Amino acid sequence: MSLDAIVKRLEAAERSANRDIGSTELIAVSKVQPNERVEAVLQEGHRIFGENRVQEAYDKWPQFKESYEGVKLHLIGPLQTNKARQAMQLFDVIHSLDRLKLAKTLARLAQDMGTCPDLFLQVNTGREPQKSGIMPEETEGFLSECASMDLSIKGLMCIPPAHEAAETHFKLMAELTREFALPQLSMGMSEDFETAVQHGATHVRVGSAIFGARVYAAKQ
Ligand SMILES: *Cc1c(COP(=O)(O)O)cnc(C)c1O
Repeated sequence: MSLDAIVKRLEAAERSANRDIGSTELIAVSKVQPNERVEAVLQEGHRIFGENRVQEAYDKWPQFKESYEGVKLHLIGPLQTNKARQAMQLFDVIHSLDRLKLAKTLARLAQDMGTCPDLFLQVNTGREPQKSGIMPEETEGFLSECASMDLSIKGLMCIPPAHEAAETHFKLMAELTREFALPQLSMGMSEDFETAVQHGATHVRVGSAIFGARVYAAKQ
């Protein structure tokens, strides 16, 4: 467990970027991690967690939420429209709004439920066919579609290509964030969160550096 070490590195990155200490939210990405590891981080006092699957989050978090006050959950993985209502009931923030059909569903459900999680729009900065997200040049149009549906977007989110320097992608995200005057920005993972902070990330998503490597069960 190295929550403390990561918090210190995050603060050092904020300091060297001349940003306020604590201005970046550290999302502890607990997907796939065994419950003991997650609970250890809860016991250290951390309350902000990220999951990438709705079902897995439902298996884990309702109970933890009963035992620990103030938990905030972030959905960071792809969301199917048929799971949107469930996701809106459990998650405080959704980082993976990536298509118009989902925006329409969220807008309708938000009217219906009278509440909506904070939303990030996922941008496929690397133009990778296997990755979700809109193309960077679609950002303006997408944001205005959302505005016309009364769907408030807090910021952009990206997952840079695995084998490229993330910094190029972070710079593009910072430019788009400035251009559209968005208040928040979700980028940076275990390998590159300090670089992300340097480029204005307000939310970093850190998994393995906090919890250790994810051990995936062998496929049946
Ligand atoms: C798994 C995941 C992370 C965390 O990755 P680490 O490399 O373990 O820090 C961050 N963001 C998203 C979208 C993820 O799916």
